[in-house]
Amino acid sequence: MNKILFRNCRYLISHPTPFGGIIENGGLYIEGTQIKALGPSAEIEAQYGNQPDVDIVDASKKIVMPGLVDAHNHVGEAQMFLIFGWLESPLTGIADTARRVLWPAYNWFTEESVYDLTLLGMANLLKHGTTTVANAFTFPDAVYRASVVSGMRTAIHVQTITSVKLADARHGVAVPYLTEDEYMALTEEAIQNYHNTEDGRIRVGVHPSATYNCTQSMLTKGMALAEKYDVQFCTHVAESPDEKSRADATWAAEGGQIQHLRDLGLMTPRTLFYHGAVLNEQEIEMVAETGTAIAHNPPTNSILGNCAYLPYMLQQNVKVGLGTDAPTHNLFNVMLSVSQQHAIMPRELRGLMPWTPFELATVGSARALRWEEQIGTLEPGKRADVVTIDLTRNTSLFPLNPGVLHLFLAFNGPGTQVSDALVDGRFLRRDGEFTIFDEEEIINRAQYWCDKFTADYMQAKAEGDPMFERVHEEYQHF
Ligand SMILES: [Zn+2]
Repeated sequence: MNKILFRNCRYLISHPTPFGGIIENGGLYIEGTQIKALGPSAEIEAQYGNQPDVDIVDASKKIVMPGLVDAHNHVGEAQMFLIFGWLESPLTGIADTARRVLWPAYNWFTEESVYDLTLLGMANLLKHGTTTVANAFTFPDAVYRASVVSGMRTAIHVQTITSVKLADARHGVAVPYLTEDEYMALTEEAIQNYHNTEDGRIRVGVHPSATYNCTQSMLTKGMALAEKYDVQFCTHVAESPDEKSRADATWAAEGGQIQHLRDLGLMTPRTLFYHGAVLNEQEIEMVAETGTAIAHNPPTNSILGNCAYLPYMLQQNVKVGLGTDAPTHNLFNVMLSVSQQHAIMPRELRGLMPWTPFELATVGSARALRWEEQIGTLEPGKRADVVTIDLTRNTSLFPLNPGVLHLFLAFNGPGTQVSDALVDGRFLRRDGEFTIFDEEEIINRAQYWCDKFTADYMQAKAEGDPMFERVHEEYQHF
């Protein structure tokens, strides 16, 4: 069995609070996939360090901490960001973004491009300290294969949509479009094949894309499927004002969008709403009352001009996690955004405790993904998802002091690459290098697909080809 002992950890962060959450000169012992013990280094070494087969790691110049948890991402969509540079006028909201950016990008995917681009996204996440990602995406088979190869802890949120025709794959054969029932069958198959595989490291969730671009029956069938298999139900809600006002107008007779979703039985403790960036106080209270979780993504929300009312969500005890919502972002950036945005929003409740962003990026996201029993903190019995930061040439997390470390990780962490990253007690990255794949090869393959996407997009544009085909208008009353 795998045995690893981190000895003399300069700072061992077990919990994301400054009170009792940091052990100076700590020791962490891992056996198999789990954390077996942690405490003062001398004690841990005396108890576990004398075994012949233990891999002893000197961490006297390292921070050792829980792996970060990304509650919302679309890991394989790096090529999509090229379109932002080709726009002829500014984006006006999420509907416009979907029409001009998202669907042209998603309609282009193939099984192999998703696989390669997902590995690029996972390399970026791991490098910046994220060990778990919730990946909202089409092509569940390709996402699964990439998740197995990368070794990351992954929630595969199988994206389905009824309002547009998107390329998708079934049994390895690309077909242009799936019907509502075929999408549900694809999701069910992914649950049966992949949920709780790799010793529980990979999970599957049901993910109708958004409440405005899926028929109502897609949403309710999705929830029924999630209940049947006891998996998470996830969807994009209240991301921008244009979307929210149209949704509220569509369901005005039902008391507005959020009341309607609640009445449909779509807000439950198994529900994860991505964003909730423009929810008001009353709607946040409904989120809290129903046990619905929120994935808060401040960097992408701010690009659309919005910021969720996080202090009120926390006051109401909403389960909030942090997400990057973009594969080339990382959670250190998101933590900085959280620190800044909630200090300047002109609202009654403002500001956060200094350690809150770090808490949300670990325990908060774990709770939002219903994974808190296993990850989010370093405790005996939990899975050994651990990252380390090398302090040998540290200038940004300076001066080192355990009382402000949590604050510095949020404020000065952006740009930080982790030295080691372990998931389930397995080194995926060690001393600044990946152990599981050739990073340069992954970058080269991803660049190939991005260049191909550029050529394909420009050709379609020159020839006036439609970038995708619409099936029904969005914001359907039923
Ligand atoms: Zn999203």
